[in-house]
Amino acid sequence: MEFNYLKSFKGIDGTPVNPANPYEQGTAYFTHGHMGGEVQHRMEEMAEKTEVGRRDFFRSACGFAGAMLAVNAATGMKFFNVSDAEAREVAATAEVKDFLKGNMGPVVDQHTHICTREEGYIKGVNTTEAGMWFVDLLDGLGKAMGLPNGTSDMNVENYGKLLLDGSDTDVGIFNPFGFREDYGGKDMIPMEEQAQVKEMWPNRTIMLAGGLTPNQGVTETLERLEDYVTNYNTSGLKLYTFDSTPQKGWWFDDEKRAYPIWEKCLELGINNVGCHKGIPFGQFMARYAHVEDFDKACDDFLDINFIAFHSAWPYHEELAALKMFKPQRTNLFCELGSTFAATVSSRPIDCAHVLGTLLRDVGSDYVMWGTDSLLWGNPQWQIDAFRRFQIPDELVEGHGYPQLTDEIKAKIFGGNAARIWGLQSAKNELGQPTYRVA
Ligand SMILES: [Zn+2]
Repeated sequence: MEFNYLKSFKGIDGTPVNPANPYEQGTAYFTHGHMGGEVQHRMEEMAEKTEVGRRDFFRSACGFAGAMLAVNAATGMKFFNVSDAEAREVAATAEVKDFLKGNMGPVVDQHTHICTREEGYIKGVNTTEAGMWFVDLLDGLGKAMGLPNGTSDMNVENYGKLLLDGSDTDVGIFNPFGFREDYGGKDMIPMEEQAQVKEMWPNRTIMLAGGLTPNQGVTETLERLEDYVTNYNTSGLKLYTFDSTPQKGWWFDDEKRAYPIWEKCLELGINNVGCHKGIPFGQFMARYAHVEDFDKACDDFLDINFIAFHSAWPYHEELAALKMFKPQRTNLFCELGSTFAATVSSRPIDCAHVLGTLLRDVGSDYVMWGTDSLLWGNPQWQIDAFRRFQIPDELVEGHGYPQLTDEIKAKIFGGNAARIWGLQSAKNELGQPTYRVA
């Protein structure tokens, strides 16, 4: 599809990958992105020297290490802390993986989804043409990651298999989609249908309420919010300031339409409110993906943490300005879902600038890990890439970026989320430190 973000990864949708193998998935993104040609031919050379064998190299942890090595070589900069041995020997990848995991602590994924509803999406029947764009985008992402039925496979079962069991993710935070005007009068991912995730894994997941826009009526919105918080096990909110109503969007700092929602949140004990910002896709209006409405909302509701999902990329500098010039602010947060996945694999220089800008201006106590999985398949490749990612010295110079130390990565991976969501430190079945939802 021409409007589909996958056009940045040419040909990836024609290459079958195993959904259970995160290294094959991550390597596919690296070999099909803007650096794909460079990465591919360097990996071909490495494949001659690896112990996993040429045929399996591109599907192995060694191959994924090789993809990161290839980016370093192609750019002449050290984006990834990865050794040649890891592209050759399986034991080396496993050893480094355990070491990094131990150093950077538990992983809380601030941004995850299941993407199904029982009745599905049928164009002209329960889905408009514009509504189908979003479904096609998600379907395309899923199929590229080996889920043959696209969104229908981004289901409760696979959430457990790929994300909670199949990756180092300790706690997953997930939310519904609304936009009912485009989906036959029913939310695209209804609250009722995603609630099963929370029921299955109560102490490893946090469910966010959503699908709400005051353009459907402030009174109705407040009633639905109250229902979701009272009758479902929800702990926060994730909203979209673009919507599918005739008005097309709204703002968090709208005193008439938005402030009653924040007042209701405080009354219900909801202190964390996220919003999709940046990544202006499909049928939605880009202007509502800008983030400046967070400015006044943050000032007027100091007891609410406002979380910019996607870190507002590619408008992340607007987000950064809301903290750089207002350092007193302590309730502005961001998370990295899709932003990291899309840039690290295809535009590593951009990735370093985005992370550097967020860390320098928003601050390392306010940036949270997120992957937008299951959209990008099993999140383990993203976790491995972030554990190894660093901002090359050449890019730090003249920009004042902090270096991505293990300590900062531990905050991003889990520490910051644990703080705002009140997670409890615990030990997992292997005796490793983890977080659990109280
Ligand atoms: Zn998302």
